[in-house]
Amino acid sequence: MLTKVLIANRGEIALRILRACRELGIKTVAVHSEPDRELKHVRLADESVCIGPAPSADSYLNIPAIIAAAEVTDSVAIHPGYGFLSENADFAERVESSGFVFIGPHAETIRLMGDKVSAKAAMEAAGVPCVPGSGGALGDDPDENLRLAREIGYPVIIKAAGGGGGRGMRVVHSEGSLLNAIALTRTEARTAFGNDQVYMEKYLQNPRHIEFQVLSDGQGNAVHLCERDCSMQRRHQKVVEEAPAPGITEAQRKRIGERCAAACVQIGYRGVGTFEFLYEDGEFYFIEMNTRLQVEHPVTELITGIDLVKQQLHVAAGEPLQIDQSDVRIHGHAIECRINAEDPATFMPSPGTIGQFHCPGGPGIRVDSHIYSGYRVPPYYDSLIGKLIAHGEDREAAIARMLGALQEIVVEGIKTNIPLHQDIMNDDAFRRGGVNIHYLEKKLGL
Ligand code: ADP
Repeated sequence: MLTKVLIANRGEIALRILRACRELGIKTVAVHSEPDRELKHVRLADESVCIGPAPSADSYLNIPAIIAAAEVTDSVAIHPGYGFLSENADFAERVESSGFVFIGPHAETIRLMGDKVSAKAAMEAAGVPCVPGSGGALGDDPDENLRLAREIGYPVIIKAAGGGGGRGMRVVHSEGSLLNAIALTRTEARTAFGNDQVYMEKYLQNPRHIEFQVLSDGQGNAVHLCERDCSMQRRHQKVVEEAPAPGITEAQRKRIGERCAAACVQIGYRGVGTFEFLYEDGEFYFIEMNTRLQVEHPVTELITGIDLVKQQLHVAAGEPLQIDQSDVRIHGHAIECRINAEDPATFMPSPGTIGQFHCPGGPGIRVDSHIYSGYRVPPYYDSLIGKLIAHGEDREAAIARMLGALQEIVVEGIKTNIPLHQDIMNDDAFRRGGVNIHYLEKKLGL
């Protein structure tokens, strides 16, 4: 097993990783920015190192400072969490070339999947169903591009190969605006991502976002851990996630899940990962793969009983997977609400000092959060202050538990989106299940 792990992240996920390490008897090193010395995991870690000032670019994205911290603490491995450097192939490469284990896939896998054109090509080759599209980057021939769009059928979407975070995409409804849209997206992509490759896809009008969790050891063994529905989004940011996805049949789960697991074996994937799909009219269309742990991983853990972070640590230590597909069984239903420090009406961030904090509990309730009374939520980072997760024997029971927990939780001193979550849990369409990715924005009148 790994003996000492450096956690290159902050907030709830750093604490989550620390807890898994402790369970496995692994020593932990927290790295943090100057304003983050009061973070809960920094206090709980065996050692901590300040890696720079508040701006992420100088601390959590500061590769030399993180590597140096690993060196001075004699860490053997680095866990990147999510966000920050978690999908940075250069970082993964630096970690490994400096003699540490990167807790994630190989750098070349991150690179392959980080470019959406090469990711789609690899997935098509592995038999994973993809959104119909240009089958590669677009060239400069206007006639050919017009022909492609006509063949795919309008509306189409132009996407940057290097895009991320919901940026670098443009929907085109008719032929008149196609060429201009391609040129604009290309220019934006060059500036924002340093890569002007763009590609074209059919634009699906009312899809759901359904993603499959995978776990693979890079030694020929891979399983899928069922799917999650993350359609409740605002500005491409997930707000509520659940597992399993309402209405997905066992046959669909098996067909797509097994394809994903087989694709992992084919590309030599190591670690946990997520295949994101758009789902419309009973069909799944792959859009991208996330080569890291997801924010929403707890809903999968609750329904499968498998600890994804511990699995990451085992796989990173070079152990072969101890689970096979027949061990993966779904128990009940789980829902996660992302609790953000933000105004529930305007969505403006609401940093500040937390006054009273009462944590909900009881059967089937899990809270992944780093906050405590007196903790100051800094203005520099993501506004996520915790995740409230409810598990029940079925979806209705999970919603009932979530509603109870949302009533119990008290976070004073800052504004949070707890009222929005109460509203969502009481929403008729949500309660029926299976809303599409536009539902929340429409409900909010955006
Ligand atoms: P990012 O890496 O920026 O998150 P994705 O490829 O995952 O980009 O797409 C983000 C979101 O954009 C999707 O969740 C979906 O809402 C929308 N989107 C992307 N491709 C399509 C498509 N072909 N049809 C409809 N919506 C799409």
